[in-house]
Amino acid sequence: MPGASWIEPHLSGIYVKPADLWIDPSRPVARAAVTHGHADHARSGHGSVFATPETLAIMALRYGVDAEASHNQAFAYGGGFERGGVRFSFHPAGHVLGSAQILMEYRGERIVVTGDYKRRADPTCAPFEVVPCDIFVTEATFGLPVFRHPPTGDEIAKLIGAVRAEPDRAILVGAYALGKAQRVIAELRGAGWVAPIYIHGAFERMCALYAAHGVDLGELRLVSETDKAAMAGQIVIAPPSALNDRWSRRLPDPVTAMASGWMRVRQRARQRMVELPLVISDHADWDELTATIAEVNPKESWITHGSEDGLLRWCELTQRKARALHLVGRDLEEEA
Ligand SMILES: [Zn+2]
Ligand SMILES: [Zn+2]
Repeated sequence: MPGASWIEPHLSGIYVKPADLWIDPSRPVARAAVTHGHADHARSGHGSVFATPETLAIMALRYGVDAEASHNQAFAYGGGFERGGVRFSFHPAGHVLGSAQILMEYRGERIVVTGDYKRRADPTCAPFEVVPCDIFVTEATFGLPVFRHPPTGDEIAKLIGAVRAEPDRAILVGAYALGKAQRVIAELRGAGWVAPIYIHGAFERMCALYAAHGVDLGELRLVSETDKAAMAGQIVIAPPSALNDRWSRRLPDPVTAMASGWMRVRQRARQRMVELPLVISDHADWDELTATIAEVNPKESWITHGSEDGLLRWCELTQRKARALHLVGRDLEEEA
């Protein structure tokens, strides 16, 4: 059995003992390496943050972290640092802009912490890289066989089909503000949707951050600056919380859509009164999770962040050594 006595899973994050450093801690610590900008991984108040430049920029925008401060350090993919004899490096996770897996090497042993990840193509971020390791700490948001995401192109085609079918109505798509919103926009552009896309004001600065990092989102217009009638036959993107809110009354008779891996569950779509569920996820589905463990082929998998038991069972059935980690505050439903 791999020793790995040098890393300790705690409820509040993963502690790397020789480096006195935490990965994605949920409380303020002296030193934090952060996989990506979602709130269940990134937060303010750390002494020093080590992350990709994009993640630091996102943390500056969302949590007021000073990205320029000398105690915080940015590393491009492939780059990293050494501390307490542990070599840390950052590798693409394919989840959202700047998302990284963190590889740690210490005394000949390699441990990868994936953070959140997915395997399918995403025009807004670098694709997941397989990093060989002894211990693979994987997320498991969709770690049950029922979760199989359809091809993204099919879901985007469904969305464009709905716009064409309802020329007098706006199609209002609920999407998480960091990652999902920009991905839906970029996927629409990739599918040939060139018309302006209308956005909720809450997305303005994050979309500008993505554009500043080279992600082409085309022409975006603010709903707050547009006449109601002009949005008939158009696509509007807003946070999920705005779907059934007074805010949506600014739109002409909106068709309510939502882009999330959870839309695979009809009950969830009904709860949110979603007419057009779009199964578009930034997390690996069941097939991606199992294929990734098989491909990385670690000596041991540590499973966290979701349906640990389903993936644990699969590891047992395929004779792979695995354990479930139980970290707190790891279920950020709306980003899925
Ligand atoms: Zn995430
Ligand atoms: Zn997460």
